[in-house]
Amino acid sequence: MVVESISSLDRQVPVQPVCTQWLAEAGVTLNILRLDELDPEISGNKWYKLKHNLMHAKAQDKTTVLSFGGAWSNHIHALAAAGHRFGMATIGVIRGEPSAGLTATLADAQRWGMQLQYLTRAEYRRKNDSELIPRLLAESGVSAEQVHVVPEGGSNLLGVVGCRDILAAGAVSPGDYDEIWLACGTGATLAGTALTASETMPDARVKGVAVLKGADFLRADIGRHTRQALSNWTLLTDYHHGGYARTTEALRLLITSFEQETTIPLDPVYTGKVLFALKDSLRKHAAFYRSKRLLMVHTGGLQGRRGMAL
Ligand SMILES: *Cc1c(COP(=O)(O)O)cnc(C)c1O
Repeated sequence: MVVESISSLDRQVPVQPVCTQWLAEAGVTLNILRLDELDPEISGNKWYKLKHNLMHAKAQDKTTVLSFGGAWSNHIHALAAAGHRFGMATIGVIRGEPSAGLTATLADAQRWGMQLQYLTRAEYRRKNDSELIPRLLAESGVSAEQVHVVPEGGSNLLGVVGCRDILAAGAVSPGDYDEIWLACGTGATLAGTALTASETMPDARVKGVAVLKGADFLRADIGRHTRQALSNWTLLTDYHHGGYARTTEALRLLITSFEQETTIPLDPVYTGKVLFALKDSLRKHAAFYRSKRLLMVHTGGLQGRRGMAL
């Protein structure tokens, strides 16, 4: 098997100008940073969160990377693909009971050689307990010394460090944009992006759209991820559409009309909620936004869309 080098994914992605009727009416320019086009298999922000975790694991002579996620997890999918591509064994600890037919996400992961281990929802909530990982490793026959453990979503410090490279993937320069919009699950992607923007684009604001309900706690998490007090970001917490992986008719309609007008696919869990929040902000603050230049980070997630009707 030919193992590629991890740096082979240090590549540029397209930055695509888009226009819709509502953007034209608002007098706003919007570009989309297409992280979803990074690679056919390893897509979106999850690669940036994994990159330094994989390099660290290799440097420590680990053979295996273990992480956690749901049956449609973009993180699990990217980890399985990256392990296969870059020559690391992977273990996916999956929330919920095994189902008769694997989800498309887990079928891909298994095809890429990921070993799947299931935890009941109650066990999964205790996944950070110290006795859990030794038990899982004993079941898979891998010794603890061989394993690098990555938290759910890839959102550790190494993950944040990788997210500092996201703007560079689109060769974004100082002064190009007034605002940068992106989705927040754990906030690691926002943290890495805000750190880079604070150094390279001092006049730009980073706007994070929380996809979970009741996500005000994320502001403190983001502060821990950045490890410094930054004032260049804002978290919007009113655009969750009922909670994680919940959708509304209005959200689905916006995603389908945007795709018809621009050919850019969005997912209802993450990127669709960003576009919805952006559009609503243009409506509410029309005077402020006139002539503004916005960048939206397309963080991927399209593989997970296979599990949701639009
Ligand atoms: C995981 C994910 C996010 C959220 O990233 P965080 O770093 O956890 O905030 C955003 N968009 C997509 C498509 C994702 O898969």
